[in-house]
Amino acid sequence: MHFAPMADRWFADLDRIAADFVRLKELFRNIREIRVMGGEPLLHPDCVAFLRIVRAAFPNCRLALVTNGLLLAKQSASFWDVCRETHALISLSVYPPVKPQVQALADLCREEGVPLECVESGTFIARYVPEGNVDVRKSFRHCRGSWFFCPILREGRVYRCAMGCYADYWKRAANAELPVEEGIELDSATGPEILDYLMRPMSTCAYCAPAAREFAWRNGAPKLEDWVK
Ligand code: SF4
Repeated sequence: MHFAPMADRWFADLDRIAADFVRLKELFRNIREIRVMGGEPLLHPDCVAFLRIVRAAFPNCRLALVTNGLLLAKQSASFWDVCRETHALISLSVYPPVKPQVQALADLCREEGVPLECVESGTFIARYVPEGNVDVRKSFRHCRGSWFFCPILREGRVYRCAMGCYADYWKRAANAELPVEEGIELDSATGPEILDYLMRPMSTCAYCAPAAREFAWRNGAPKLEDWVK
């Protein structure tokens, strides 16, 4: 739902992220879990800087670096130093091509003293409903109670989910309808306003099926149908 295969190539700006976390810290005493995600975060030339920024703002949160693991074995000693210093954990999305390397990656993390969680990712879910006729309350209720309710922070704004935040990639690639979420601006909103915003469905939810279609991993380039319920 990040539409990563059709996304532009861009890197999150560290100064912007640092400012956003200063503001987040002003607004919220703690956030239970923060996940550094992509795309693929290890493609960023200074990926560990995000870990430092997050940890400085939220000393007690669970901090996870979500990766497909392909670049993990190539990381320098300083990468592992920062993971330890910031008490970050590696959250490995175990796609089938990575499976044969899981044991070696687990050994590496153990040797480096960095916790690893493995998330089996052999299936994908397709939730996009082209007709946009889903009951938004029903869809939102379902999403709010499940693992994929994951608000996104991107360039000074908070979004209810990846699908709304990155909808423009889908619209461009599929030439199809999907309302792009505006998000709520961190600098001007209060904490209660942000929480209230996150708890209300939006027009994008009408394109998001509560019961997703699941399908297995396969080799080859993704097709647009892969996103469609
Ligand atoms: S579009 Fe709505 S229902 Fe779907 S994941 Fe986002 S917030 Fe949840």
